[in-house]
Amino acid sequence: MTIKDNIQSFQQKLAGTNCKLVAVSKTQPIEALQEAYEAGQRIFGENKAQEMAEKFSDLPSNIEWHMLGHLQTNKIKYIAPFVHTIQSVDSLRLLEEIDKHAAKTNRTINCLLQIYIAKEESKFGLSPAEAKELLQSENYQNLKNCVITGVMGIATNTDSENQIRQEFRTLKEIFEDLKNTFFSQDVRFKEISMGMSADFEIAIEEGSTMIRVGSSIFGARNYAK
Ligand SMILES: *Cc1c(COP(=O)(O)O)cnc(C)c1O
Repeated sequence: MTIKDNIQSFQQKLAGTNCKLVAVSKTQPIEALQEAYEAGQRIFGENKAQEMAEKFSDLPSNIEWHMLGHLQTNKIKYIAPFVHTIQSVDSLRLLEEIDKHAAKTNRTINCLLQIYIAKEESKFGLSPAEAKELLQSENYQNLKNCVITGVMGIATNTDSENQIRQEFRTLKEIFEDLKNTFFSQDVRFKEISMGMSADFEIAIEEGSTMIRVGSSIFGARNYAK
């Protein structure tokens, strides 16, 4: 299967659903992104700011770039002029810095709150209580150049389909709760980003609006390069 075949097969799977595909192109060479673009893919996800900025400058301007990785505040400047959505917001401080850089370039940046749903120590993210605290804070309410458009979560890396399904279900419930409490009048809060190569089918069944797929499109990543 070529990259083009893989993109087309996802396009068919997602046709008529409310779920979009983020092609996760981290570590992949520019030619691989080009092939996906030519097959019609327009949303790409990266996890390093400088790598994203380089790819942005080499590719057509009608691509939506999504940041997925843990973002250090001193790296925001590389992507603020063009990034569409930062999916990995896990603190008020990060959100405030994103807002500051977005204001400098006269832009609005979409942000997803990354929620911790896995039973693993190493994953970043907010607890539901921390997410609420952030949304209640005066500092958040004063931000003008970032918009929270939903939540993102990463399920545990496990063979237990049941556990993964439960974690996705929990994320959907957290989304609904935040929607009812903070965003009932705000149609922009609508995204539940969940599902990767290993678990996107379960995620779609559980209400994902955005799957983030890397290796099932581009093949295995080579981190050594
Ligand atoms: C790398 C990555 C993905 C894609 O992972 P695959 O298993 O290759 O599909 C999705 N989401 C995040 C946050 C990632 O870092």
